[in-house]
Amino acid sequence: MSKLRFDVVQDAFKKKAVPAESLTERTSKYFGELVFDRDKMRKYLSASTYDALVDCIDNGHHLDRSIADEVAEGMKTWAMEHGVTHITHWFQPLTEGTAEKHDSLMEYDGKGSMIEEFGGKSLIQQEPDASSFPSGGIRATFEARGYTAWDPTSPVFIQDDTLCIPTIFVSYTGEALDYKTPLKKSLKAVSDAATPICQMFDPKVKKVFSYLGWEQEYFLVDEDLYAARPDLMLTGRTLMGHESSKNQQLDDHYFGAIPSRVMEFMKDVEIAGYRHGIPLKTRHNEVAPNQFELAPIFGETNLSNDQNQMIMNLMNNIARKHGFVLLLHEKPFAGINGSGKHNNWSLGTDTGTLLLAPGKDAMGNLQFVTFFVNVLVAVQKHNALLKASIATATNAHRLGANEAPPAIISSFLGHTMTKVLRKLLEVPSDTPIEIAGKKGKSVGLVEIPEIFIDNTDRNRTSPFAFTGNRFEFRAVGSSANCAGAMTTLNAAVADQLNDFKALVDKEMAAGKPMNIAFMDVLKPMIASIIDTVCFDGNGYTDEWKAEAKRRGLDVETCVPKMFEEFTKPASVEMFTRTGVYTEAELKARNEVKWEIYTKKVQIEARVLGRMAENHIIPAALAYKTRLLNILSQLKNLYPEDFDTMAKTEVAILQKVTKLIDEVSTKCAAMVEARKAANKIEDEREKALAYHDIAESLFAIRRPIDKLEEVVDNDLWPLPKYRELLFIN
Ligand code: ADP
Ligand code: MG
Repeated sequence: MSKLRFDVVQDAFKKKAVPAESLTERTSKYFGELVFDRDKMRKYLSASTYDALVDCIDNGHHLDRSIADEVAEGMKTWAMEHGVTHITHWFQPLTEGTAEKHDSLMEYDGKGSMIEEFGGKSLIQQEPDASSFPSGGIRATFEARGYTAWDPTSPVFIQDDTLCIPTIFVSYTGEALDYKTPLKKSLKAVSDAATPICQMFDPKVKKVFSYLGWEQEYFLVDEDLYAARPDLMLTGRTLMGHESSKNQQLDDHYFGAIPSRVMEFMKDVEIAGYRHGIPLKTRHNEVAPNQFELAPIFGETNLSNDQNQMIMNLMNNIARKHGFVLLLHEKPFAGINGSGKHNNWSLGTDTGTLLLAPGKDAMGNLQFVTFFVNVLVAVQKHNALLKASIATATNAHRLGANEAPPAIISSFLGHTMTKVLRKLLEVPSDTPIEIAGKKGKSVGLVEIPEIFIDNTDRNRTSPFAFTGNRFEFRAVGSSANCAGAMTTLNAAVADQLNDFKALVDKEMAAGKPMNIAFMDVLKPMIASIIDTVCFDGNGYTDEWKAEAKRRGLDVETCVPKMFEEFTKPASVEMFTRTGVYTEAELKARNEVKWEIYTKKVQIEARVLGRMAENHIIPAALAYKTRLLNILSQLKNLYPEDFDTMAKTEVAILQKVTKLIDEVSTKCAAMVEARKAANKIEDEREKALAYHDIAESLFAIRRPIDKLEEVVDNDLWPLPKYRELLFIN
């Protein structure tokens, strides 16, 4: 056993980098070659079909069936030139990752031969047998049908030999069973709410986009070491493991030289990403050993989220070519940083104005402050809900530890914007808001400095930080579908903007000029957020937890309880007013969330129990046997001086015995707790019981990690943290 671990570690250490695909072409030449983008539409569709499709994409107009046939034909021609033999609807159910069911293009031609066929009908809609996807009871078992329907706003793409068609996934009665449907509704809601406000500043605005730029953090581990860790294989994280003597304390990994095996992996990921039209921009080492990050140039939220789903799939596959396994779990290793997926989010008009960046003049700045403040009010009102939107069994391990944001949603504004907001409260409502340095100084101006003094402060403890032209929602977990967080944020902002607009309209109807009406409405809003949701300090301190509670922010840390936010009246009203979720959908989705939470913890508990019994206790007993052999020899050799001669051995024996007993007793108690929890019918109650079990896993881990410290290194059956984390 010990030999095995030693060999695996040696082999992993000796592995050499596998060269990435070598390309002579420039990136811009092959960028998007596997995506049916506008260039391909132009090439493979007639001019009228192209126009109809673009109209459908840009303006949400219905696509006629006859046109769908033509579009499908064009896609087929293009795809077959790339060797495509299959098609699939590609959707995002409430499980992790994406779902696909491949159908071959082959059909009988009616004359005894086969032809490749792909019509508008199979492009637009399919009925996957969806009974195995979570629905939270929406789809009664007798009605197993679910529908996938093409989302023309996200281009179809080729993966391997298959043409993938991004789709939404809904029940027979129309309820969303996926992430994409509500996300798209929230994008419409925020556009509908923001556009009339923008039109007051610029009548040419027709639409407002929500933008997303995700920063994806991940770990890589050697695949052979991974294979020797049942906990990593089955749960995605280590359930035990003593911390390595050296971990991230020297800060030598962050932005360090990228190890060559990893570098080749990253190059392959980028090549694949570019082929799929994903504009990857940044790659670097992260803070923890073996932790890395990649990020694209931001884009429209629905598309950007699809691209995030795609890149997670691609990374997963490409990692294996390089002898790695990709870990997207939020906390694969205790004691060092976990992985998040910072969701950089902003709004922008179809005329090219970023609404969360300072404007060019006083009115532009008023527009900026309007959106800035409304976002913060939305975050304040729905801080508990936003936390619920990122809460999962796995993300729970990350929040509040090692540079991850705490489980309290507050917003970091930075020095500049805090000052601007405070100043706005003091001055008369008609005071122009200017960019300092651009206009001559005059008394009474509220100034936003031209060079935004590094607003990208590294306050990593802030879950929702303003970073100059966007907010960065950092609490999102690395394995999450961004849509969960983005749907809630966009819906909350949309609802708030609608409220705001109604108030402004009232002021203006009473005869106030626009700028004064805006400021008169904004001022009480600013006063309400400035000392509540806005917080620039250290989110880790106990003082902040107490202070946040005093400020009325949600401080709940129990994930199954957080989910309850979704069905509270304020949330249901907000989501139904904006048309994003119905109450039935919210209830159903919570059932799914509780169920997934329970299952995740249940799997971890089982794995930990079996590893304790099959790996840890036997290894500790083997060591105990060695100690007993030594002791009996000592007894024979030194019958008189035994107590002195055997002092150390006896102490070690006592320690090992005590720890083995502790592991064994705690595991037995955990099994009993599980048995009791499994009898609970109600999903919420059951998840709450499993929350206690999740806590008990820490208690089982502690004596195991202590055993790792004392038991002979040769006898330890599992790769240790120092081996998992420092081999590239
Ligand atoms: P940092 O590590 O400093 O936070 P990165 O460069 O790693 O920054 O990632 C920043 C992400 O934010 C990128 O995906 C970038 O495209 C995105 N981003 C930049 N501006 C905006 C914006 N206005 N709206 C949304 N995302 C943005
Ligand atoms: Mg960032």
